[in-house]
Amino acid sequence: MDQYRVFGNPISQSKSPIIHQEFATTSGIDIEYKAQLVELEQFEQVVREFIDKQGKGANVTVPFKERAFKLCDELSLSAQKAEAVNTLTFSNGKILGDNTDGLGLVNDLINHQVNIEHQNILVLGAGGAAKGVILPLLEQNPTSITIANRTLSKAQAICNLHYNDKLTASSYQELMEGQFDIIINATSTSLTNATLPIAENIIASSNVCYDMVYGDSLTPFLAKAKALGVKTIVDGLGMLVEQAAESFTIWTGIKPETKPVYQILSNSIGISQIKANKA
Ligand code: NDP
Repeated sequence: MDQYRVFGNPISQSKSPIIHQEFATTSGIDIEYKAQLVELEQFEQVVREFIDKQGKGANVTVPFKERAFKLCDELSLSAQKAEAVNTLTFSNGKILGDNTDGLGLVNDLINHQVNIEHQNILVLGAGGAAKGVILPLLEQNPTSITIANRTLSKAQAICNLHYNDKLTASSYQELMEGQFDIIINATSTSLTNATLPIAENIIASSNVCYDMVYGDSLTPFLAKAKALGVKTIVDGLGMLVEQAAESFTIWTGIKPETKPVYQILSNSIGISQIKANKA
């Protein structure tokens, strides 16, 4: 049976084993997919040991995505632009690296009938997650993507990496009276309940607010968007499922059904906000 892992620290919260086992079941194949806690200094060694045991592939999560990027022999374009890898494939003695987070986001937006083409997009944050979504978003031909970050130099560095005149870096103060169709929260503020330094009128005038974080209640960002009357609000659960589906396809060549897994997870987490806000 082909063996897969997700490596991270912490890892007990990971839903990847459930998602991948479900993909395998509905695709009619047998795989073993386990979550493995990796000590901070042991990531590279653990990957090599897994390759020695004939492991086929692995997902990589916090805090190892940048180290996975450095470990690869070959990188996809999305991994190169993200400078981070969430999907490792072990093939013919080589480590191949990919980043499926961005495509996961785009597919989830599409699943929620969000049109990206010709839209003005605001991405909040310039960490690993933001970096990974810029190329797949650009491929959907938006009018513009503004990246706002507390540390402006990190937003500027992402723009420099892409050389694309649709991209602009901004501080939160500079956003001022900006008007954006889609706002994507790629900061970790929803995990810490920190307040995002973004003016309410910017949120209120958008059509779609997306938070990469998900949980059993609305994130503070989505709660604010809802209170301000934003039409469509979506959390990051679908992105999680869709990025997993892209990894599964890379490994097996099979494109799995994502809706049943999304439904199972949202039922277990108790998420009803998306439906509530669509109503
Ligand atoms: P990083 O740690 O790399 O980046 C965090 C970002 O949040 C930075 O831009 C940082 O700004 C910003 N930030 C943190 N605190 C504040 C604050 N108080 N005010 C303003 N900005 C703040 O994290 P990642 O990019 O890897 O992940 C971001 C989020 O996306 C996480 O919550 C993660 O769980 C989620 N995620 C979800 C996925 C999914 O599938 N649903 C996939 C990947 C990530 P600064 O640069 O100034 O420090």
